[in-house]
Formats: sequence, structure tokens, C-alpha cells
Amino acid sequence: MNTAPLTVGEQRERVRSHDQGRSDNQARRASESRSRRSDGELRAIADRAELELADASTDEVAAWAAHEFGDLMAVACSMADAVLPHVIARHLPWVDVLFLATGYHFAETEGIRDAVESSMQLTIVDVMPRLTVAEQDEKYGARLHDRDPALCCRLRKVEPLTETLAGYEAWVTGVRRGEALTRADTPLVAWDDKNGLVKINPLAAWSFDDLIAYAGANDVILNPLLNDGYPSIGCAPCTRRVAPGEDPRAGRWAGLDKTECGLHT
Ligand code: SF4
Repeated sequence: MNTAPLTVGEQRERVRSHDQGRSDNQARRASESRSRRSDGELRAIADRAELELADASTDEVAAWAAHEFGDLMAVACSMADAVLPHVIARHLPWVDVLFLATGYHFAETEGIRDAVESSMQLTIVDVMPRLTVAEQDEKYGARLHDRDPALCCRLRKVEPLTETLAGYEAWVTGVRRGEALTRADTPLVAWDDKNGLVKINPLAAWSFDDLIAYAGANDVILNPLLNDGYPSIGCAPCTRRVAPGEDPRAGRWAGLDKTECGLHT
């Protein structure tokens, strides 16, 4: 394998080609757009798939989802890693990847977002809260996450995501059963009644080690915080390192009676 650094000209060509691919895809989407199917139709598709794909492989689920929903499917990604977008983009290049732009991310996470956008065949969609952090501070007081994290998550994650998902037929998440007891029964495909669309969890059966192994084998970007004591990465004020052997999500909202941000419950 040639590991020589790219010349300036080669780097420029790579950026130009990437930008051209994105533009071509946007043009294709505009010309091929179709209407969203009804909730009843989508619910029937989800119910059928939940049974038929119950024992399917990750690739089989991803291929089915890409074929069934196409551009009306989005991938949710926290930028802890780019494995899930990579898995889906193999079947649906330039798929929309929703990034919750809470305004509270670690610098490393923002860096991964930018690296993913500039290097992978994906379309990053920043899901913006209605209020900036400064506006939220003015309205609710500073550090709302310390006093009422449920409200902060609702304002900065749940409501903006729900509004964004309304335009899609299906969303794909990286929820894994082994992450927490609250996720132990996660199906590969199900109807998401709360958001009114099909929810697909192709990595449900994966372990953390499976995730890392896939990233290594496929040269997929990982957030450096994963190797710095953060097996689960959320907003900086609400995420701490975990000790070896501790629950991977123990560092999220540590010390509070809160284990989920409300996106998956
Ligand atoms: Fe706010 Fe913390 Fe929720 Fe982020 S994780 S939206 S900072 S409460």
C-alpha cells in the first residue's frame, strides 16, 4: 500500500472530487424526490420487517433499509465514532447524517463531525436547537444542565430532532443492547410511535469491541475520547470519565437520576 503523503495537488483534487460528489448527489436527489408515505403504510412496513429481519445481519438490515427508504432515511450520529454512518453509506452513499448541534460538545466531537463531513460520502445535517446557549441562559438561567437536565435535553436534543425527523420515513440509530439495561430489548427494526416513523437499529447486537474492531478493519474515524476513558460520549457538562469495569454509560449525567436524554425512550 502506498503510504506516501499526498501532494498539494493531490489533496486539492481529492477535495474537489468530494465536493463534486456532494453536488451531484444533491442534484440527483432534487430530480428523484418523492412524497413521504403515510404513517399507516410505514407502520405496516416496520411491523413486517420486525418479524422478517429479526435474525438478519447488520448488512442485510442496512441493505433493506437503503432500498426501502432511500433518501427519506436519516442516520443519527453523536460523533463518538463514524461506524454507523459508514455501515449505512456502503448501501446509501451521501445519506443524511443528523448531528445534534447542542452547543455543548467536546472540541474532539466537533472535530470528528468536521472530519467525517470532509472525508466520507455523507451529508451532515446539523440539528439546531431553537435557542443558542446564550439565549437559553438568558431565558432559563446559566447551566440549566446542572439544575434541570431533562429540560435542557428536551430543548437542545429531543424537540429539534423530533422536528427534523418529521421530514423522513425512517431513522437509523447506533443503539446497542449491551450499552445499558434500558436498551437490552432493542429490536433491529420497529415502529417509533413517539416520532412517527420507522426506527432501525442495525448495530443492536454489537458489543463495544465489535464496534472498535469494525472501525479498525475499515479505517473508520473514532473520537479520541473513546481511548481516554469515555466509552459513551455526550455533551461535555454531562459526561465524565468512567473507571475500568464501570458501566459504560455511568459517566453520563453521573450522580443524577437520569440515564437517557429522551431520544430513545
Ligand atoms: Fe443539556 Fe447535558 Fe442534555 Fe446536553 S446532555 S442537552 S448539556 S442536559
